[in-house]
Amino acid sequence: MAGKKGPEVKGFETEAKQLLHLMIHSLYSNKEIFLRELISNASDAVDKLRFESLSNPKLVDDDSAFEIIVDHNKEANTITISDNGIGMSKEEVITNLGTIAKSGTAQFLESLSGDQQKDSQLIGQFGVGFYSSFIVADEVQVVTKRAGLKAGEAVLWKSKGESEYSIENTQKESRGTSVTLYLKSEEKEFSDAYRITSIIKKYADHISVPVKTVKLQETSEDDKSTDKEIEYETINDAKALWTRSRRQIKKAEYEEFYKHISHDFEEPQDWSHNRVEGKLDYTSLLYIPKRAPFDLWNRDAARGLKLYVQRVFIMDDAEQFLPLYLRFVKGIIDSNDISLNVSREILQKDPVVDSMRSAITKRAIDLLTKLRTKKKEKYDEFWDQFGQVLKEGPGEDFTNREKVAKLLQFSTTKGESERQREGLDEYIERMKEGQNKIYYLVAESIKSATNSPHLEIFKKKDIEVILMHERIDEWMMGHLNEYEGKQFQDISRGALDLGDLEDKEKQEDKEKTEKKFESLVARIKTLLGDRVKEVRTTNRLTDSPACLTIDDNDMGSQMRKIMEASGQSVPETKPIFEVNPEHPLVAKLDNESDEEMFEDVITVLFGQASLSEGGSIDEPGDFSAKLNKLLLKLS
Ligand code: ADP
Repeated sequence: MAGKKGPEVKGFETEAKQLLHLMIHSLYSNKEIFLRELISNASDAVDKLRFESLSNPKLVDDDSAFEIIVDHNKEANTITISDNGIGMSKEEVITNLGTIAKSGTAQFLESLSGDQQKDSQLIGQFGVGFYSSFIVADEVQVVTKRAGLKAGEAVLWKSKGESEYSIENTQKESRGTSVTLYLKSEEKEFSDAYRITSIIKKYADHISVPVKTVKLQETSEDDKSTDKEIEYETINDAKALWTRSRRQIKKAEYEEFYKHISHDFEEPQDWSHNRVEGKLDYTSLLYIPKRAPFDLWNRDAARGLKLYVQRVFIMDDAEQFLPLYLRFVKGIIDSNDISLNVSREILQKDPVVDSMRSAITKRAIDLLTKLRTKKKEKYDEFWDQFGQVLKEGPGEDFTNREKVAKLLQFSTTKGESERQREGLDEYIERMKEGQNKIYYLVAESIKSATNSPHLEIFKKKDIEVILMHERIDEWMMGHLNEYEGKQFQDISRGALDLGDLEDKEKQEDKEKTEKKFESLVARIKTLLGDRVKEVRTTNRLTDSPACLTIDDNDMGSQMRKIMEASGQSVPETKPIFEVNPEHPLVAKLDNESDEEMFEDVITVLFGQASLSEGGSIDEPGDFSAKLNKLLLKLS
């Protein structure tokens, strides 16, 4: 027959297939969440329609009140979730239900370990949404009609969750979406009215659309054959959670709301809910997730807050309200000052948004500060997940630099070295008498930091040093000159100035020592030539004969790597070769008349110094040959 097409069968995108398979096998211990996910989607669909109808009132001209209905049929073992939200056109069904439109899905799938327990947490983080239906169903059917389209333009989508789905046109008078799950025979509990009501109670209280289901007494009689009209009752509060007062909201409600907006399966680490009145009038509810999302480092990943204006949902991922270094913060803002027909472009230029952004940024920082002072263990967990992102703060946010610095955590020579647990305040508290600088060292890894020869004098004098070993550290320190009036000092740069911590006699001897070793230093410089910027004696070593440093303003190796990775050419940094005048080897060298011997020893010392910085040797063959020659002199 002309015009009437049968169902088209389409294959799921490969990634969708893989994800479906993984999900069905990983989430079996928490099956009921499928209902939460479907109600959450239905509520988003209503939000979207409310928004679109602002500019196109015709979309809602039938005057029906927004609602979500959860129906069931015990005999057929089905459950149906219907909404009168925005619905989907055929193209939308294909893109939304047949593909996974999240960038980075492939990497995400690669990162899975095969360990079901771990993977189920990761999958939760990924946000499985609609596909979670297949945890409990053999087959899922979706009937949907986009608001504004004709009854004949509705779509029927069916899938058994394996490798394909079918799609065809169908008839549907009312707008919106109905999702019917044909439950697996072992999942009968989900077509039971009591069970359904209790799941809705647990998960849907914060949903601002009424969620209705068949009134309990009706079904308990098991009398489905009569034509008695089924009575529905609203199960949830149906009031936007953030409009209620903090005291009335239970912890579990905050947690569920977080899961709804973030698509995260885990509870949040902490949150902050505030109503601001006065010059600006808005409510914010900000959450810190427990775990970093799989796409935290993906530049194109969605980030930002959900924006509402006077309780009407406007957009997801409004990024203008938080700086990039706080991109892990999730939440909502509901403003009474922004216009209802705002767009992303307008948001970028709106001065109200700027003021809100700085207030919301402060809120987020306050939330973290409180977490660190009041619940240090939780903060430590947070730090392990998001610390590296927060380290972008000092470079990005001049106004809050000091506040962000207060939140930073490091490994130090006195605290835990492996994990970053010490803050700058703790460091300052432990500073030695006479110490007026914050000493730190940037190295390639925590191992090379802890073993660095630069620490020798600090260990001897029992002065704490912060050990930095992450890619971003050198860049970050380029934006931090001081904290609480104390200057930062990179102990591997420039001549070491210990100030009042230096022994008096040593200070007086300094010139004498320099004079004494003047000719040795010149001799080494001639030998090393343009491999070094300078050669000098040093006060920073106690055990090692020599080390390398760089000049105050030269680029360090981490920064160099960042620049090179971004394709920029970087000028070479030449090291300064420092020798320890108190080391017996150096004293011996001063008297060494055998030129060949002198050259061998210096080559070996220079190579060693480079290795202990985590660097490499330019001519490893020559280095080994010279070292072996020296070893052969053992008597
Ligand atoms: P997510 O909700 O995280 O985007 P889902 O897999 O749950 O992922 O859903 C994919 C998309 O399908 C949604 O973003 C939405 O566009 C569409 N969708 C799902 N359920 C509905 C619904 N009830 N009404 C309208 N659109 C829906």
